[in-house]
This record gives sequence, C-alpha cells and structure tokens, in this order.
Amino acid sequence: MDLRYSKEDLAFRDEVRAFLAEHLPEEISSAVRSGGELTKATMEDWHAILNTRGWLATIWPKEFGGPGWSPVQKHIFEEECCRAYAPRIVPFGLNMLGPVLIKFGSKEQQDHYLPRILDGTDWWCQGYSEPGAGSDLASLKTRAERDGDEWVINGQKTWTTLGQHADWIFCLCRTDPDVKQQAGISFILVDMATPGIEVRPIKLIEGGHEVNEVFFTDVRVPIGNLVGEENKGWTIAKFLLTHERTGIAGVGFSMQALEEVKAIARKTMRGGKPLIEDPLFAARIAQAEIDLEAMKITNLRMLFKAQEQGAPGPETSLLKIKGTVINQELKDLARRALGPAAAPFPGHVSEGNLMFGPADTEHNAGRYFNNRKTSIFGGSNEIQRNIVTKTMLEL
Ligand SMILES: Cc1cc2nc3c(=O)[nH]c(=O)nc-3n(C[C@H](O)[C@H](O)[C@H](O)COP(=O)(O)OP(=O)(O)OC[C@H]3O[C@@H](n4cnc5c(N)ncnc54)[C@H](O)[C@@H]3O)c2cc1C
Repeated sequence: MDLRYSKEDLAFRDEVRAFLAEHLPEEISSAVRSGGELTKATMEDWHAILNTRGWLATIWPKEFGGPGWSPVQKHIFEEECCRAYAPRIVPFGLNMLGPVLIKFGSKEQQDHYLPRILDGTDWWCQGYSEPGAGSDLASLKTRAERDGDEWVINGQKTWTTLGQHADWIFCLCRTDPDVKQQAGISFILVDMATPGIEVRPIKLIEGGHEVNEVFFTDVRVPIGNLVGEENKGWTIAKFLLTHERTGIAGVGFSMQALEEVKAIARKTMRGGKPLIEDPLFAARIAQAEIDLEAMKITNLRMLFKAQEQGAPGPETSLLKIKGTVINQELKDLARRALGPAAAPFPGHVSEGNLMFGPADTEHNAGRYFNNRKTSIFGGSNEIQRNIVTKTMLEL
C-alpha cells in the first residue's frame, strides 16, 4: 500500500476543496465551528447540497447512487469536510440502513427507501437499545407478533438519537421468544407516524436534546417491512454495527480537534510563555498526534479491506476504541489549555454580560461533556475490547 497521495488523489483533494469553498455556506460552517447544537434545517441543508453534487452516499456502490470513490478518496473527502467545518452527516439512513438494504433488502425495499434516503424525504433513527438491553443487546424485549399481514409491536427503545426529527425507525424486535436470544430477533422498519408510537426526550448532561425514549403500544406495521428473513435480524444487526463503528472513529474530527487544541495552546500564556511551549503539555499533544497519525493509517487499511470484502470486519472495534480515546484526550487537553474559561456552560457565558473567556470558548464545556458519549454509544469501548479479544486475538 502506497501511503503517499497520487497526482490523481491530489487533484481530487483540490476538487473537494474548491467545492467546499463554493458550496459550504458560511452560516453552516460557523455553526459547526461554534460547537453548539445544529438545527434540523442546517443538517438537512447540508444533506441536500451534497446530494445535488452526488457526494452524499459515499459508502454506497455506484449503482445505488454512491460516487464510486476509492478508499483514499473517501478518506480525503472526510478530511477536507472536517477541515472546512462541514456538519457531520446524519448517519442513520446513509451509513447504517443504506448498506443493510443494499445487502439484505428486497428489490422493492431498495427501490423504495434508498432514493428517499438520498433526497432527504425520510429521516431515519436507530431502534436498537432498550432500558435492559445495551451492551447485552441480544436480550432485547421489544416484541413483534404476527397478526394476519401485520406485525404488532409492543415495547420500548431508548437513547434514540435524533428520534425527535425522524420519519422512520429501524428496529430490532423479538419475533421468537422461545429460542436462543440471538435466533429470535428480526429487523423491522417502522413509520414513526404510526399510531401507538410516543417519543419522549432525554436531556444530556450538557442540557442538549439529542436522544429520546421511544414507546411502542400495539403499533401495527405491514409484514413487508421486515428486512431479510424473520428471526435472522441478529446477522443484520451486527453487519450494521460494523458500519456504525467505522463512522464513530472520526479521524477527520480528531484532526480538527488537534488543530483547535494547538491554536488554543498557542494563544494561552502560562508562566510568561505560550502553553504550547510547556514541555509537559507539548508532550501530551505530541502523543495524541502520534496516535492520530497511526490511526489514520489503520483507518485507511480498513477502508481498503472493506472495499475488498464488501463490508468492514470486526477490526472496526479497534478503530472505535482508538478513535474515541484520542478524541476525548484532545477535548480534555482543550479544556486544560483554556483553564477557567472552559468552565461556563452556554447561557452562563453572557449572563449579566459577564464574559468569562473568549467568545469562541462558549461551547467548550458543553462539547467536552457531550463528547463523553462517544466511548459509550455504538457499543461501549469495554465491549469493543471484548470483541477484539474474541474475534481477532481468539482468546
Ligand atoms: C448519547 C448516546 C446516543 C445513543 N444513540 C443510540 C441510538 O441512536 N440508538 C440506539 O439503539 N442506541 C443508542 N445509544 C445506546 C448505546 O448503544 C448504549 O448506551 C451502549 O450500547 C451501552 O449500553 P447501556 O447504556 O445499556 O450500558 P450497559 O450495557 O448497562 O453498560 C454499563 C457499563 O458496564 C460495562 N459493561 C457492560 N457489560 C460488560 C461486559 N460484558 N464486559 C465489560 N464491561 C461491560 C459497559 O462498558 C458500561 O461501561 C446511545 C447512547 C448514548 C449515550
């Protein structure tokens, strides 16, 4: 594997940069840069801009509407989008359900749902976790029972990210309670407007509304909304999770965070010198940067492997662990560099016109606390270590 960018890759990078300079609206990039919560409209606007250019479904095969990029091109695109402070694409339809439908969906499901994901008609959310089923996901209890040509769903999902905006939810449901846990689960698509669904907000530690509980009471769904075979949903669930974990690694976002830490440490004075010249602080930044460089290579290796195999493998657990550990370290360094200016939460900063620190630190505390989630969602890092020991180290 040649790790230098070829002439073609560099030309592609220029094309992406030019596109971002022209089409990423300033109000969107500054909303991302400030670190505050993005509105639904902002996320939808960016989705539409990328779709118009044909650069939205970067991991879909070309025949389904993907751009047909090489792994290096995907990597460059992600890197450049982060450099320009483009929003993270909402992954549930594009990077989770899309690949599932392409691999396991019927032709009718592909023809119906995929174009609607692309043009933004349907906003999807993920109905996996339940109050008693997170790490031990296979113990989920939400029940789907056949009644004629419908499923009747009863139960509760939780931590449903952006479920308040969603038109549809893909759900893991128990369709056979009398067999081994993993053997009685099905993957079912549910219209959020169906009677019997209730969405209740959960507030996160920094006060944001990003996640929800979703309750199902006698929710009737057509039988045809089953993806793949009845009781074979666990295979689909695992396939989807490898895609989810690759996305969480977020190499580009850590590169962005690294630049931000360096910028803060250059401006912050400690003992009469810029903090970046403090040997202990500089060593921590250097360690994070080295780890990030190593992860970039690992990420590329996995993108190549996923392209050869048609799907990412269990190695994505490594990416998820490493990616989130690096990102959390960078967020921690940023807070340490800011010192007291990192303390206030949004809203406190301008209370009584009393400014605690530079305006661009306003969302720092919120971002730091919000970021704690990354080592939990998509399967906690402890669980990823278990997967690595079992599947890769065969212990
Ligand atoms: C912000 C956020 C957004 C999320 N979004 C979604 C979403 O959109 N859709 C969705 O379905 N889910 C979502 N989740 C749920 C997420 O996947 C679960 O929180 C995660 O899988 C952990 O499950 P749990 O919260 O039930 O914790 P638990 O499973 O109760 O785990 C608690 C602790 O015990 C540890 N632990 C548990 N079992 C083991 C073990 N065998 N070995 C070692 N350690 C163990 C865990 O690592 C963790 O530290 C989200 C979670 C968060 C925090």
